[in-house]
Amino acid sequence: MRPTELYSVLAHQDASAGIVAVLIGAAIFAAVMLIILVLISRSIRELRRGAERFAGGDLSQRIAVKGPLQLADLAESLNIMAGQLADRLSTVIRQRNELGVIHGSMAEGVLAIDHEQNILSLNRAASVMLSLDATDAIGRSVYEAVRNAEFHQVIQQTLDQGTAVAGEMALNAQENSESNASSDRTIQLQSALLRDDDGQRIGLVLVLHDVTQLRRLESVRQDFVGNVSHEVKTPVSAIKAAVETLIDLPGSDDPDTQRFLQIISRQSDRLAAIVDDLLSLTRIEQAGDGGLKDMESAALWTVIAAANETCQAGANAKQIHIQTECDRDVRAQISAQLLTQAVVNLIDNALKYSDPGTSVLMHCEVLDGEAVVSVTDQGRGIEPKHLPRLFERFYRTDKARSRELGGTGLGLSIVKHVAEAHGGRVSVDSTPGVGSTFRIHLPAGSSS
Ligand code: ADP
Repeated sequence: MRPTELYSVLAHQDASAGIVAVLIGAAIFAAVMLIILVLISRSIRELRRGAERFAGGDLSQRIAVKGPLQLADLAESLNIMAGQLADRLSTVIRQRNELGVIHGSMAEGVLAIDHEQNILSLNRAASVMLSLDATDAIGRSVYEAVRNAEFHQVIQQTLDQGTAVAGEMALNAQENSESNASSDRTIQLQSALLRDDDGQRIGLVLVLHDVTQLRRLESVRQDFVGNVSHEVKTPVSAIKAAVETLIDLPGSDDPDTQRFLQIISRQSDRLAAIVDDLLSLTRIEQAGDGGLKDMESAALWTVIAAANETCQAGANAKQIHIQTECDRDVRAQISAQLLTQAVVNLIDNALKYSDPGTSVLMHCEVLDGEAVVSVTDQGRGIEPKHLPRLFERFYRTDKARSRELGGTGLGLSIVKHVAEAHGGRVSVDSTPGVGSTFRIHLPAGSSS
């Protein structure tokens, strides 16, 4: 073989070997890539399955990814996220359970409604009081679920006024027949608006408190006081009559006898006054409970004029001048007889606790939607510490002085009950040594 031929054969062999080597290299590369791709796709599948498990709420298992670094990092991050989610979820569940237990074991009923007045939640006590099946009631309109006008009124007032409202509702035995309640019940209601973090209204919550027992006891107390006063009234009248006869009886003019008879007479007068005031209080309380019967729209100046007339003699005797100031168009729904009694009590006190030569002003006006009757004196005034308890039964700032002046300690309590029986309230301002102003606030009626 010639050298050129040999060279050509060798060159040919070299080229074949190179091609084979390239092919083998390519095959190995393809195999490695394939393996990597398989590994990546397996890891991605594993990741996807794990993410789906987490999304489905199963946070107990972790994703096991041993693939490429970035995927393993991603899996690790997902596992950490799942761990944190599981922790938070268990905290939320624990808190919800705690809240549920507290909510469920409360004696007060709690009912929440959304901004469309559909029931959001209610606890066991509320469902018993309102005879509602808790699961069935949720999502229903509260107006449809609880058919009670007073209940609706509290909700409506809360929404209209945008403030907390208190009220009371009566549930009769039929209305709550599904519950264990076998008789009529009285439920006290307290509402509050629910607002989100931005202060937007999202609904309201109502707290229900069964005050049936309390109201029954109050009624027993009222009856008791009324009955005792009735029973005491007759013997006291008999004692008074007997003492007056004895005082005038010939032969009883011995000074000691006269002194003792006068004491008995004064004390029986006092007892008679207390019995009369207690009976008045009981009557006003009982009348107020069922709503006053003899209510009519009247101008308040008529009440002021009647009270003025009643008190004129006492005022003259003490040389105190009574002034009256009242717009003729101030009107309210009133029981004229009861309101006159209350104003007379206020003037009576003004005269009792003021010096001769001073004056008493009776005034009436409409203020902030209320018809206000006030009695202002220039008397000795009352120290601020007494003001919060002044309208309580038998509360006196100076017991001896009150008794000396013939007070029973019930006058202001009667005034307060009369105001409340009218759906109103009382207030007082006083400065020791300067004088006092007592006010009766009533819901104003339309002026004619
Ligand atoms: P009383 O029969 O003792 O007057 P009230 O219930 O009418 O009972 O009044 C309670 C107490 O309030 C009185 O004992 C007196 O101390 C005080 N009080 C009431 N009105 C006045 C007044 N106008 N000025 C000063 N003190 C008053």
